[in-house]
Amino acid sequence: MIDFYRFSHLSACPTLAHAVSTKSKTFPYHFSLALHTNEEKQSIIQNRTLLANAFDTSHDLDFVLAHQTHSDHIHIVKQKRSQGWEDLDDAIQDCDALITDIPHIALCILTADCVPILLYDTKKKVIAAIHAGWKGTQSEIAYKTVRKMQQHYGSNPKDILAGIAPSIGKCCYEVDQNVAQHFFHIPKSSTPIGDKYMLDLPYINQTQLLRAGVQKRHIKMSHICTACEVEQFFSYRKEHGCSGRFMSIISLLPKP
Ligand SMILES: [Zn+2]
Repeated sequence: MIDFYRFSHLSACPTLAHAVSTKSKTFPYHFSLALHTNEEKQSIIQNRTLLANAFDTSHDLDFVLAHQTHSDHIHIVKQKRSQGWEDLDDAIQDCDALITDIPHIALCILTADCVPILLYDTKKKVIAAIHAGWKGTQSEIAYKTVRKMQQHYGSNPKDILAGIAPSIGKCCYEVDQNVAQHFFHIPKSSTPIGDKYMLDLPYINQTQLLRAGVQKRHIKMSHICTACEVEQFFSYRKEHGCSGRFMSIISLLPKP
């Protein structure tokens, strides 16, 4: 069985498909979808094929992945062809946010604790998928992706719907001061406990989207912590450096 997590506001859009994969004991590596973590390649490809079929079978989709590097590099996908799907080598290099307005391209982000964010401009029909760990959050990749959508496609942030998918929560994300201090200027970004801090990455990314002009009512948080819900999602922290990754996907599917 392949189960997806979905956002209600994105699910309500008739010309959009999105999904966040969950773990499954039925499939190899608990249904990990990462090619870069040294599992047997054919099993991961098989998992990806099952995922693609469960995601959508009525369109000829191309799946695009980036070689994620915790950067603030944003790539606009302009060609309809799969990249990084069956092989690592042709993934978008050194990149942590993907944007496109081309239908039938599925933008994919892999995570295990980092924050995956899906964006959809309902007027201009532009989508984005973002990977924000603490470094990407520090470099404001969510804010910059909205700005890129404005610059390149004329998006109005008021038309953008956002989903902040399962990621490690403030309950479980303990960091040192050298990490937390990057966010001290944001009220409620962390809570001190002894000489450590509990950092709230989903919340900080929400503040970036708000500052970029996205409406609060258009931002849905999953409020699912990957470390607390490790039966459902991969958690690098909880699983002590696991190599499994789950996938967040978004694609435009216009009516013919
Ligand atoms: Zn937690």
